Amino acid sequence: MLGPVAGPLTPGEKLGAAALLHVRYDSGRHLPQKTAIKGICKECKTRSFYRCIFCKVALHPECFIPFHVPEEERAEVEDME
Ligand SMILES: [Zn+2]
Ligand SMILES: [Zn+2]
Repeated sequence: MLGPVAGPLTPGEKLGAAALLHVRYDSGRHLPQKTAIKGICKECKTRSFYRCIFCKVALHPECFIPFHVPEEERAEVEDME
């Protein structure tokens, strides 16, 4: 009785979100860089020596993905992996 799966969420759509995430980071545009000057992290609002070389905003390495990736995309990536 099990036919082809036809749901609203296809594997292709999930791969699409993950692929988008990898493209963002593989592009080399958004990268954390350690600087000599402390800034206020845009994600957690505490001081950080790191900032994104593309956005020019202070971020901790652990705050880098939460800042750049929307919450719903993160959930899909975590679900897939
Ligand atoms: Zn950035
Ligand atoms: Zn932070």
